Amino acid sequence: MPLVRRSSGAGSLLAPLLATTLLPAALIAQSPARQPARPATPLEATLDRTAQHPTVVAAFAALERDNAWTLDTQVGLCEIPAPPFKEAARAAAFRDRLRELGVSNVRIDGEGNVIGEVRGARPGPTLLLAGHLDTVFPEGTNVKVRRDGTKFFGPGIGDDCRGLAVVLAVAKQMITQKVPFAGRLLVVGNVGEEGPGNLRGTRAIYSGPLKDSIDLFISVDGTGFGITNGGVGSNRYRVHFKGPGGHSYGAFGMPNPIHAMGRAIAKIADLEATTQPKVTFNVGIVGGGTSVNSIPFEATMEIDLRSESAAALAEIDARLQKALREAVVEEKARWPQSRAALDLVIDTMGLRPAGTTPDSSLIVRTALAAARTLNVYTPLTTSSTDANVPMALKRPAITLDGGGVGRGAHSLDESYDDRTDGYKGPQYVLLVVLGLLGVK
Ligand SMILES: [Zn+2]
Repeated sequence: MPLVRRSSGAGSLLAPLLATTLLPAALIAQSPARQPARPATPLEATLDRTAQHPTVVAAFAALERDNAWTLDTQVGLCEIPAPPFKEAARAAAFRDRLRELGVSNVRIDGEGNVIGEVRGARPGPTLLLAGHLDTVFPEGTNVKVRRDGTKFFGPGIGDDCRGLAVVLAVAKQMITQKVPFAGRLLVVGNVGEEGPGNLRGTRAIYSGPLKDSIDLFISVDGTGFGITNGGVGSNRYRVHFKGPGGHSYGAFGMPNPIHAMGRAIAKIADLEATTQPKVTFNVGIVGGGTSVNSIPFEATMEIDLRSESAAALAEIDARLQKALREAVVEEKARWPQSRAALDLVIDTMGLRPAGTTPDSSLIVRTALAAARTLNVYTPLTTSSTDANVPMALKRPAITLDGGGVGRGAHSLDESYDDRTDGYKGPQYVLLVVLGLLGVK
């Protein structure tokens, strides 16, 4: 889910009258009052033409008309549990749906990702369009979806069952309407996006046989409208301080693991962190000790470092490691007569690479131009999603929201409201995809 509203896209601000002349009536009818027109850029004019191609007009109409299909798909997939590392049942269902739609070469890779292909009418780039299969919810969670009008309640209904449904709806229309696009669409349901998965699905794709053939990456994750082109990286550690421990009176005079950790936390708390680029640090959990009158044999803490700048993240990580080592040295120096050990063990809980797809890149400009054509407002945002992986490799990558209105992601009360125009989500994603691949 987007974390930071970073800057504004052109969106509805400057949509010229010409932009929607041949669009479906529903899109025009719901457009807000327009600002004074400015001439379309060549890229914007291309997106306008793409939206006016007869097959694309038909696809837009079908997405609106068959909106119930998209919602049924969203609910159907969501009622199949997909805890971290246990996405297989939902993956199988996603695979079966791809096959029903006529997607070719559908397979499940060694990591558990579902991958299929839609071939274009002529050679061109390869675009990977993905939603993530996994949820944050453990086994045994009730995943039955409850519907109340246009509102749906269920764990994962927005994040990311919405994304999965949008990906399928887009592929369905590209096939059904025989849109003459260039290149190749890879349709993917990937595993391991959420915390514990540590982006393992997308990492596997970018280290597997497809890695050099993917030109463009779009994941559909979240609700509303937005373009995520900043990837927040994070380094997470579980740190242990270990010693022999002993009686608080009888064994007094030896290094104390909790005292050592206290020294470390004091240093971490004093770390300098920049706001441009934003850098954050947090000791989120501490533990250790067995009784008030025992020198503990272990102290443990969990630390989260984040930044959208890979260099800044590496820099604060180095200062963290130094603080941890210094804390051990200082605690040992406090008791020079003691020969008791004090060991530092750092377990890596997760490393998410940071990266950015520049605002000036073709993929971002195309996504903004598509928003202008459809007269929707799409802010540029920074978040932590599957797009982090290609961003860190400096490959063009964004994450798009899937339309509708979501609430309470990662909570059992999660909801998704399709309102009157949820279908604009897949329409928007379709236009971005076709704008990047090209339609003739
Ligand atoms: Zn998500």
